[in-house]
Formats: sequence, C-alpha cells, structure tokens
Amino acid sequence: MSRSRTSTPAQPAGPDRARRAFLRGAFLAGRADTRPEPLRPPWTDDGRVLDACTRCGDCLRACPEQILITGEGSFPEVDFGAGSGECTFCGACAVACRSEVFEPDRDPPWTTRAVISETRCLAVAGVHCEVCRDACGETAVRFRPRLGGPPHPELDPDRCTGCGACATPCPADALTLQAEAA
Ligand code: SF4
Ligand code: SF4
Ligand code: SF4
Repeated sequence: MSRSRTSTPAQPAGPDRARRAFLRGAFLAGRADTRPEPLRPPWTDDGRVLDACTRCGDCLRACPEQILITGEGSFPEVDFGAGSGECTFCGACAVACRSEVFEPDRDPPWTTRAVISETRCLAVAGVHCEVCRDACGETAVRFRPRLGGPPHPELDPDRCTGCGACATPCPADALTLQAEAA
C-alpha cells in the first residue's frame, strides 16, 4: 500500500463556473445542518467537489476498488462499505477527472483517519479481538498488554492513512473513517 500516485490528473476542460456556482448553492441549501460532511475522494475536499465537480461520474468508473459512489446531489463520495472497502491511493480517480476537483500536490491526500468506538469495540468489552491490527498495513493500530483483560486497540493518527482497510473486517462495526478538520 502506498500514498504515492502513479500519474498526473488530466487538465480541466473549460469549466462552466456560473453553472457550478448555481449547483453548489442549490446543493448546500438542501443539505441538512445535522448531516456530517461526506467523505470525498483523496486529493479533494467538500469545498473543491462542490465548487468544481460536474457530476460526470468519471472518477467513480475509474476506481478499481469501487469505493467511490454517487452520493447526495450526485456528487462523488467514498463508501468504505462498497467494493474492496479500501483506498489504495492509486490515483486513478484523479487522473480520470477532467475538471479542477483534485489537487495532485496535496500530501497527505486527505485528512481522513480511522476512529475506534469504545462503546462498540469487542476488546474494550472484554472479548479478545485484534482483527483491526491484522488488517492494517500501516501498523497504525497497536495493542498494549493490559492486566485483567484483553488489550485494547490504540490508533496512531500519525501512521493512519485513512485507507479504510480495518473498517470492513471489524466484527463489531467499531471502526469508522472520518475526515478531520484541515
Ligand atoms: S485513489 Fe484509487 S482506490 Fe482510492 S478512491 Fe481513487 S481510484 Fe479509488
Ligand atoms: S477489530 Fe473492531 S472489535 Fe476488534 S479490536 Fe479492532 S475495533 Fe475492536
Ligand atoms: S484506516 Fe485503518 S487500516 Fe488504514 S491505516 Fe488507518 S488504522 Fe490502518
């Protein structure tokens, strides 16, 4: 697994800014205040997607892991419950996009990180489980020995890439991927 990209995104093809501004305004007006910001593809964020995305679907079709879905307003979102459940940071979505949505120089590509729910985690409830550690290729989940029960998972946010590989295998749905404030 790597954060590196294999090629450079295509250049924008004559964006219709007035139409996009209209679409963005209409979309934001309809977004419920309580809804969390959706996860956007790597090298993007909510603002860039709503500003520049033409909703063509090219990035969705390009994703070999099939984790990009048509979200609210027909804008692209990441769904780690779809496809392979993991972003490999291959860059295919960015290469396929013909608009100004992706920022190829963004490093790291996003602020998305795994979050462990202590109320759902089996290990915290006293059941031996280290599935997330085994799934993580970045050794971002560690278990320290603990007296009186099984070790609890601890996430190292500096190592976590937000790839999502740990979320699907978790038997308790205790792992979610969330975008941190930039
Ligand atoms: S970087 Fe690759 S795996 Fe990740 S969302 Fe884009 S196309 Fe899919
Ligand atoms: S895989 Fe899920 S239930 Fe198991 S230790 Fe990790 S977070 Fe907890
Ligand atoms: S999202 Fe999960 S699997 Fe991916 S680096 Fe972070 S802890 Fe590891």
